[in-house]
Amino acid sequence: MDRYLATLDHEEIVIRRGTRSGVYCMVAVHSTVRGPALGGCRMWSYGDTRAALRDVMRLSEGMTYKAAVADLPLGGGKGVIVVPPGERLTGDRRRDVLLDFADTVNRAEGRYLTAEDVGISDDDVAVMSEVSPHVSGLARERGGSGDPSPWTAIGVGEALRVSCERVFGTADVAGRSVVVIGLGHVGSHLARGLAADGARLIVADVDENKRALAEELGAQWIAPEEALFAEADVVAPCALGGVLDHETVPRLRCKVIAGAANNQLADTSVDPLLAQHGVLWAPDFVANAGGIINISVEFSPDGYSEDRAEVRVRGIADTVRHIFDEMDASGRTPLAAAMEIARQRIAEAVPAA
Ligand code: NAD
Repeated sequence: MDRYLATLDHEEIVIRRGTRSGVYCMVAVHSTVRGPALGGCRMWSYGDTRAALRDVMRLSEGMTYKAAVADLPLGGGKGVIVVPPGERLTGDRRRDVLLDFADTVNRAEGRYLTAEDVGISDDDVAVMSEVSPHVSGLARERGGSGDPSPWTAIGVGEALRVSCERVFGTADVAGRSVVVIGLGHVGSHLARGLAADGARLIVADVDENKRALAEELGAQWIAPEEALFAEADVVAPCALGGVLDHETVPRLRCKVIAGAANNQLADTSVDPLLAQHGVLWAPDFVANAGGIINISVEFSPDGYSEDRAEVRVRGIADTVRHIFDEMDASGRTPLAAAMEIARQRIAEAVPAA
């Protein structure tokens, strides 16, 4: 039985057929216990609407834990626009769909705050903001906190360095071999930072055009299908999720995995396997929280500031240290230690009945 349809622990789910476009828009509020539920809007073509509902519920729950571990005064939510099969939403039709989604956001009356996610650009969130005040992550010139990717990369860099500190005794990446898989928005920033700090970079991307960046950074290029199994100190998955499973983990030759990709573990049964193979894994939803931490600064009483954002994003280093300390003290895995911290924070925030 599909867990996300068999059990409901979400506070609120809004599903509406857009009045302008006829396209289905979904908003899932998993938890507002620690604050309004922040999470981006994903525009995606699903096999069926049940798959879309499952995705919005799964992603919104993940946002609750991500925000709690990062100690943000935010809950977890997510939005989905269900693109009709075979359609590419452009022009006026795209605009209608975005306004319809913003209407759906308004139905949650501020309990859900939207932002960008897969398939949604900062121009798209600007359209949503025409009819909804519950929109974050606007471009800097529009008064928002701008592109989250460089912030995500800074946070991943911190998580990666703290993981190195645990395993190799120093957070200094100079001379350390690091494989970056996926040189996209986050991976390219991460690779630049690591190269600047003297890491021995090995990079992979399915897009051959990314070879130019590899050359610029003096990085070794490796085929994408070999990258995860390269002999290196660190692997940073910055492309797709689900790469760590019962077949791939035994083939790993690195000591640390710390990257931006969401849902790196195919399922939670992979978590203990990593430790058994002597690999320290920085939980993805902790390492890649820089983007949401940056957005959260928009809600501070003094408004957004890059300096404050940087201090908070670099705080991911302390969070990861705390998780590894808990892991050492309790014998838990990194994932279990991170989830324990999240659950504790959520439980502490539950108002007394
Ligand atoms: P992106 O689409 O800009 O970059 C992904 C890169 O990976 C692309 O260059 C793509 O060609 C490459 N790629 C795809 N499949 C590959 C494969 N099999 N092997 C090697 N390379 C491959 O995405 P992004 O914004 O950089 O995000 C990367 C990951 O981090 C995603 O999983 C995303 O969900 C996650 N993430 C991103 C942010 C953010 O702020 N952008 C925040 C949190 C999590």
